[in-house]
Amino acid sequence: MTKDGDNPNDENRADSNRWAVVLLVDDQPMVAEGIRRMLAEEPDIDFHYCSDPRKAVQQAAETGATVILQDLVMPDVDGMTLVRFYRNNPATRNIPVIVLSSKDDPNVKSDAFYHGATDYLVKLPEKIELLARIRAHARSYLAQKERDQAFEALSKMQAQLETMNQELARSNRELQRLSSLDGLTGVANRRQFDESLEQEWQRAARTGMPLSLIFADVDYFKRYNDHYGHQAGDDALKKVAGALQSTVHRPADLVSRYGGEEFVMVLPDTTLEGAVAVASKVLENVRTLNIPHENAENTDRVTLSIGVATLTPEENENPQTLVQAADKALYRAKEAGRNRIESSSPDETKKKQPATV
Ligand code: GH3
Ligand code: MG
Ligand code: MG
Repeated sequence: MTKDGDNPNDENRADSNRWAVVLLVDDQPMVAEGIRRMLAEEPDIDFHYCSDPRKAVQQAAETGATVILQDLVMPDVDGMTLVRFYRNNPATRNIPVIVLSSKDDPNVKSDAFYHGATDYLVKLPEKIELLARIRAHARSYLAQKERDQAFEALSKMQAQLETMNQELARSNRELQRLSSLDGLTGVANRRQFDESLEQEWQRAARTGMPLSLIFADVDYFKRYNDHYGHQAGDDALKKVAGALQSTVHRPADLVSRYGGEEFVMVLPDTTLEGAVAVASKVLENVRTLNIPHENAENTDRVTLSIGVATLTPEENENPQTLVQAADKALYRAKEAGRNRIESSSPDETKKKQPATV
C-alpha cells in the first residue's frame, strides 16, 4: 500500500505484475485500512490511498489508476461531484469508478450511475466480490485503452498513407506533364503530338469539323549549326518554338516538336483558310525573332518553310492521311524556294475524284 502523495514512479508501478492499479478515495482511515487488508495479499494489485478528495483527480492521473474506489460522503467535496470531475478530465475520463457507499439505496445508486459511476458497492464489501469487480473493471479498462491506442496508431498511419498518396499523385501528374514535353524547347513532344492527333481526329470524325495540321521546318538549319555551332542551334530552336507557341491561343491548339528542327501544330475545328492565316502569322513571328543566318539563301535571317493541310476525317481514313498531306505541302514549300507556305486540302482532292460505285 502507498500513501497520500506517493511518487507515481515508485517501485509498485514498476512492478509489471501489478497490473490492477487501485486508488481508494475516502476520508476515513478505518475504511482505508479495511480495504488495504483485503487487497494486501494480492500480487496483481497495486493499492494507493487518497484521503483528501481535493487531490483525488490529480492522484488518479499520477498513479495511473485502472480502478477508482470512491467514497460518497466526504468533507469539502462530495463523491458524486468527484465522479463528475473524473469524467470531465481527459486523464481520468475513462477510468472505471466503483462507488463505495454506506447506503444500499436505489435512489443513491441511480444518482451515482447518473453522475458517471461504473459500479456500486455497499461498504464494506466482501473481499471476494471487491476483488472480482476490481479485476473485471481494470481488465476491461486496459483492454479498451489498448484498443484506443491501436486505433490512434492506425489513424495516424492512415493519415500518413493519405499524405503519401497525395504526394505520389502529385509527382505522377508532374511526371506525366514532363513526359509529354520536349526537353529542349518546352513545347509538347512527339508522343504527345501522336496522342493529341489521334484524339482530335476521332473528335473531328464525330463532329464533322475540319482538322488542320501545320508542319514547319527550319530552313538551312544544318548550315546554321555548321556556322554558329550546336549550342547556338539549340538556342535558335528554343526561340522558334517560343514563336510558334505564342502564335496560337485556343486551348485545343497544340504546338509540338516533331523531331530535329521540325515542328508541327494541331489545329482542331480550323479550316484550311484559318490554318494558312495561322501559318502566315508563324512566318511573321519567326521573321520578327531576327535570328541572323549568314549562310541562308535569299535572306540573312532564320526562316521556316511551312506545309499546311486540312481534312474533315471520314470513317475509312486515318490521321496519317493528314500527316502525309501536310508533309507533301512542306516538301513543295522547300522545293519552291523555302521561307514560304504551301497548303493542301485532301478534301478537295477527294471531291475531284470520280465517284466510286
Ligand atoms: P532544309 O532547308 O532543307 O530543311 O535544310 P536543313 O539543313 O534545315 O535540313 P537537314 O534535314 O539537312 O538538316 C537538319 C539539321 O538540323 C541537322 C542538324 O544539324 C539540325 N538539328 C536537328 N536537331 C537539332 C537540335 O536538336 N539541335 C541543333 N542544334 N540542331 C539540330
Ligand atoms: Mg530544315
Ligand atoms: Mg528537317
